[in-house]
Amino acid sequence: MDSRYASRMSTIPKSFIRKILRVTEQPGMISFAGGLPNPRFFPVRAMAEAAATTLNGTGESALQYSTTEGYELLREYIAERYRSRRGLNVSADEILITNGSQQGLDLVGKVFVERADAVAIERPAYLGAIQALAVYEPRFCSVPLAHDGIDVDRLTETLRRRRVKLFHTVINFQNPSGISYSRERREALADALAGHDTIVVEDDPYGELRFEGTAAPSMRTWLDERAVLLGSFSKTVAPGMRLGWVCAKRAVMDKLVVAKEASDLHSSIFTQRILYQYLAHHDIDKHIATITAAYRRQRDAMVTAMEDYFPAVVDFTRPEGGMFIWASLPETLSAMELFEHAVEQRVAFVPGTPFFVDGGGEHNLRLNFSNADEEKIEEGIRRLGRILQERLSRNHRRSL
Ligand code: PMP
Repeated sequence: MDSRYASRMSTIPKSFIRKILRVTEQPGMISFAGGLPNPRFFPVRAMAEAAATTLNGTGESALQYSTTEGYELLREYIAERYRSRRGLNVSADEILITNGSQQGLDLVGKVFVERADAVAIERPAYLGAIQALAVYEPRFCSVPLAHDGIDVDRLTETLRRRRVKLFHTVINFQNPSGISYSRERREALADALAGHDTIVVEDDPYGELRFEGTAAPSMRTWLDERAVLLGSFSKTVAPGMRLGWVCAKRAVMDKLVVAKEASDLHSSIFTQRILYQYLAHHDIDKHIATITAAYRRQRDAMVTAMEDYFPAVVDFTRPEGGMFIWASLPETLSAMELFEHAVEQRVAFVPGTPFFVDGGGEHNLRLNFSNADEEKIEEGIRRLGRILQERLSRNHRRSL
């Protein structure tokens, strides 16, 4: 490594996913690899109108420098949604507008994580969180996920051994596994954290994309100022706006605002005003209902096709929302090998290894169902199923 570069650059994992996404751009490829929302639901025309209204009405202020915290009306809108839909007593001054929730991850890292600090993450974890937090050179403690949330005993063990500064969790419809924490797991997690000063970073870009079941309370319900919530408009409106937020109590917020100011002064006031203009004049709940109805059909198409075409030894999650299914192959099959064969057959997914900081994932696949229509989903899964059957019977013949 060239000694001119900061050492942190060698600790940030390179995004393997970017490499995969290049493969998926090949013509005819059916891709379950990316984590892209379906562009069919981007409110293009409404956004054009919102942009015109913003420029014609308050053009000068939309193009001027603005406050670090973000556009007051947008912050109030977000706080009001926490109050009315989540039963959380959040005020606008507890909201910081960020460039997507990805920037929220960077800011919490900047504010809390010193080199070699223990940071607990899920196993498997959101790759973007691994990357964002790795910049601050922590020691990652990766804690396994069960079907309904974190393995609390393992987390308790980690807490006994180390002072864990942060615990990053994608509490609803996790990326990559699709699982959600049950209410009981959340309570057990809150109990396990009692007497510790660990900050729980509740990263929740998918919570509003629920197809069925009932939502469980946010960790803020139990942890109060030790819960830092990250939210995003990427999945409910459009990721290209790059608008998300951090929700934290005042003491933490004061630090986050300083960190944000040091990073970029403020998020684009132009896009914030356009987004607010859009939200104030459209029924966002109706819009979200349209998206979730379609994603639900796409999830159903993928689950049904996996039941029909995958060998019975392949296990997979059946998420109640979000955008991902996580499949587990038998130990005799390598996800990376499957990937090579799949690409030849013009179908792509993400093999499991990048979601682990301590090895693992060799037999896992992340499959995204939000970005392909039902026909493509069925065809792609059929192709994958055929390769899986072939690989399995080959192994079987070899072992005879
Ligand atoms: N957190 C999780 C769990 C995600 O899956 C993503 C997007 N892939 C993000 C954060 C970042 O999203 P954005 O910056 O667009 O809000």
